Amino acid sequence: MTHETAGAPGRDFIRDIIESDMAAGKSQVVTRFPPEPNGYLHIGHAKAIQINFGVARQYGGRCHLRFDDTNPTKEEQEYIDAIKRDVHWLGFDWGPHLYYASDYFEQLYEWAEHLIRTGKAYVDDLGAEEMRAMRGNLTEPGRDSPYRDRSVAENLDLFRRMRAGEFPSGARVLRARIDMASGNMNLRDPVLYRILHAEHPRTGSKWYIYPTYDFAHGQSDAIEGVTHSLCSLEFEDHRPLYNWLIEHLPVPSRPRQYEFARLNLSYTVLSKRFLTELVRQGRVSGWDDPRMPTLAALRRRGVPPAAIRDFVNRAGIARANSVVDIAMFEHSIRELLNKTAPRRMAVLRPLKLVIENYPAGAGEELEAVNNPEDPAAGTRRIAFGRELYVEQDDFMEDPPKNFYRLSPGREVRLRYAYFVTCRDVVKNSAGEITELICTYDPLTRGGNASDGRKVRATLHWVSAAHAPRAEIRLYNPLFARPDPGAGGDFMADLNPHSLERLTGARVEAALATAIPEEPIQFERQGYFCADVDSAPDHLVFNRTVGLRDSWAKVQGAG
Ligand code: ATP
Ligand code: MG
Repeated sequence: MTHETAGAPGRDFIRDIIESDMAAGKSQVVTRFPPEPNGYLHIGHAKAIQINFGVARQYGGRCHLRFDDTNPTKEEQEYIDAIKRDVHWLGFDWGPHLYYASDYFEQLYEWAEHLIRTGKAYVDDLGAEEMRAMRGNLTEPGRDSPYRDRSVAENLDLFRRMRAGEFPSGARVLRARIDMASGNMNLRDPVLYRILHAEHPRTGSKWYIYPTYDFAHGQSDAIEGVTHSLCSLEFEDHRPLYNWLIEHLPVPSRPRQYEFARLNLSYTVLSKRFLTELVRQGRVSGWDDPRMPTLAALRRRGVPPAAIRDFVNRAGIARANSVVDIAMFEHSIRELLNKTAPRRMAVLRPLKLVIENYPAGAGEELEAVNNPEDPAAGTRRIAFGRELYVEQDDFMEDPPKNFYRLSPGREVRLRYAYFVTCRDVVKNSAGEITELICTYDPLTRGGNASDGRKVRATLHWVSAAHAPRAEIRLYNPLFARPDPGAGGDFMADLNPHSLERLTGARVEAALATAIPEEPIQFERQGYFCADVDSAPDHLVFNRTVGLRDSWAKVQGAG
């Protein structure tokens, strides 16, 4: 990965294909992002979204958003709404091209009858278990169903009665009549329709039969005039079936399918099945729990969409599956937030500091820089006074040699304020330090000594009289191992320390009005944002990501 290409889509095999198609005179590029509305989008979907919308935009084409809503028992309007919101948030727009596979149910049904009439499909009465047993396996061919040679008339009659709701759910299926001995299991007479007496979020109770994903997918692409059906690698083995269907049906266009590797992230599961389980079992607070890899969760956590796009571009598009280090994602987040996030001061684990030579009842305002990376961000005024809070771990009573922060007799700088020297500590009956007694040097206002003397540490702080209390939520990886589930049960790999709540933090007064999702750097601590749970009488902040970047180090060393 070079710095020149980081963040911008480079060349990849998909763009190569499109460019050679264009060179050959096929100038149209129509793609689609086809989510099944059975869960929220995750960062893996961001890759598919970015590829599909990205190439359409780049080559002057269009990209459709199409809901593959063929399985009504698992699909919900909530998911449809969330998917639309998340695609927009990520920065992409389908314009007027919003479609649903369910819009094509009537057409798909007619095509199913077409296959029956041409002897290419039949109604099978075998139960699911028998059908599986007769499918064979990779080394053994399958066996023909005893219903495979039904007459066209009988098949048509049964299929129409399936549609009419005459048979109970699961009683029969419609199968393609291809080849039970095919080396490709997907061609061993795959199921095209199943009976399902279920309400559909869009078609209501109109249908008693529903097409399978495999029957709906390619034909939906053909109806929409999709030129390049881009999908992830697990559909490679389905391509021969899609092509077979396209060949045997009077479809209006012939899409070509190309497969790319899925995005996988270390310490993360990116399967809707597993994510649904986490939500359903209450292991997380919901689809947008900031520890989840969903776009909704990343948004709530404070990750800007541009950081996700940058990361997906850096991860690249390839034909081979791999796992991307989560540190690379965090690197993209930090790099962007470092440039854009305003700086504020927040003390996560407060320790009171009293300046004994600062006049009681007095106070003043000091000037603080909003973002040293961005002069246009300007400055702000922050309150200072006799009583402050500093971070507990910025003080040690008996410091080791390499500890340069506050300790008895030691002078340090309070950022934007003054030099202070620790004179004494106050302890409670349990022997815990409850207060630091310090003096300040009035000639160091703004944080510099007029005599040029230096200090080795600069601490952040807040004014006790002005700093509201806040809850801080620190997030760690949801899973404790890089490859969750590799041991068999991914639930067993959950990190018991994925959420750490600090309830007594004190934050700079300006943070009382922080807006959810808007990134802020807490100086020396990391990037944070107000949570949607935050309220004026109970401020809540999420840590988006810490400040330290282990990925840059790894790259620098390599
Ligand atoms: P999951 O496996 O998480 O349930 P899915 O593939 O079933 O995901 P769909 O709603 O069918 O989810 O996905 C819509 C599109 O997103 C598909 O074209 C799929 O190829 C793509 N996609 C899903 N997960 C990833 C991923 N991790 N990386 C890249 N593309 C993905
Ligand atoms: Mg899928």
